[in-house]
Amino acid sequence: AATVKLITSSQIITSTSSAVKELFENALDAGATSVEVKLINFGLDRIEVKDNGSGISKENTTCMALPHYTSKISNFTDLETLQTYGFRGEALNALCRVGQVTLTTATASDPMATVYTLDSSGNICGTKPSHHVQGTTVTVSNLFKNLPVRRQLMGSSRKSQEELKQVESVVKSLAVIKPNVRVTLSHNKCLIWQKTQCSNLSNSFAQLVGYSTSQQMEMLSLKVNEEISVEMLVPKRNCDISMLAKSTPVFSFIFVNERPVLNKKLIKVLHQQLTVKFKDNFSPRKFAVCMFSISVIPSSVDVNLEPNKTKVLIKDEDVVLSEIEKQLQIYYSVPCP
Ligand code: ADP
Ligand code: MG
Repeated sequence: AATVKLITSSQIITSTSSAVKELFENALDAGATSVEVKLINFGLDRIEVKDNGSGISKENTTCMALPHYTSKISNFTDLETLQTYGFRGEALNALCRVGQVTLTTATASDPMATVYTLDSSGNICGTKPSHHVQGTTVTVSNLFKNLPVRRQLMGSSRKSQEELKQVESVVKSLAVIKPNVRVTLSHNKCLIWQKTQCSNLSNSFAQLVGYSTSQQMEMLSLKVNEEISVEMLVPKRNCDISMLAKSTPVFSFIFVNERPVLNKKLIKVLHQQLTVKFKDNFSPRKFAVCMFSISVIPSSVDVNLEPNKTKVLIKDEDVVLSEIEKQLQIYYSVPCP
């Protein structure tokens, strides 16, 4: 049974970036307004994610890392009103199986924080008091220690650089969609990226790409129907598209209910419109700077397609795509002054 658990856990936590993603999402689910991610040796020696969220109450700490424990939903119909990233109760347990986990937490009413050491099954095997700061810090050490082949692969110099990029992209995408959350990412004590609190999506995106979005990008809002609306940040019709070309890496972010997702069809819809508008100055490989944030009522979306939730199903996706296309077409067909 331990082997089976190791296999399923290693499918949930496939890499450093998926570990970071799960921990970051837990911090956001706890209502954090500050999330600090620190990696040592590409996360293989240590991953630490510190938040200032709700903390975990005493009655929840005993079971928090046990298989399938979640405080976020209590029955299946809750899925239809889901507001959180997590709902499966698998991540903490899976992390315990593939690394050594300690968790320090305090709620607003706790006089002290408590440090919990967890064993590989997710049971608490040690506790000690710590000074009080509200929130939760999770550390994972020696990731994949019991999966030597994966640890070796992740530790190879090419793979570890790639994986660090992946961590960056996970952190940035969750950071950009939460304007009011302050985020830092560091590796071996060097700050790689940080974002300050800001008031809206456009400013959040500006911190990501490093230029004034108000000059180059337009925020368009679209109400598809009673259940679906879209906010899109796209190149302005009179933007300096050659300047947007210089932004490497390419930032194209799509969110469904604030969940980062991949959707090639949507990117293609934008690219077609940009090709019509900017002709040869536009090259799809270089100019993918955009952000789409799609909001749907939770019952119209299925996030259960894959464990990492990067593919989600939206009811009436084709309608959404064609409405977005129409709106972009109208926007780009207005001649520039
Ligand atoms: P899920 O997120 O699907 O509920 P996890 O295994 O990721 O499952 O986490 C298990 C539980 O531990 C959560 O439901 C939550 O109650 C608690 N938890 C984990 N991380 C945090 C955190 N950073 N802040 C507050 N509670 C947390
Ligand atoms: Mg979770």
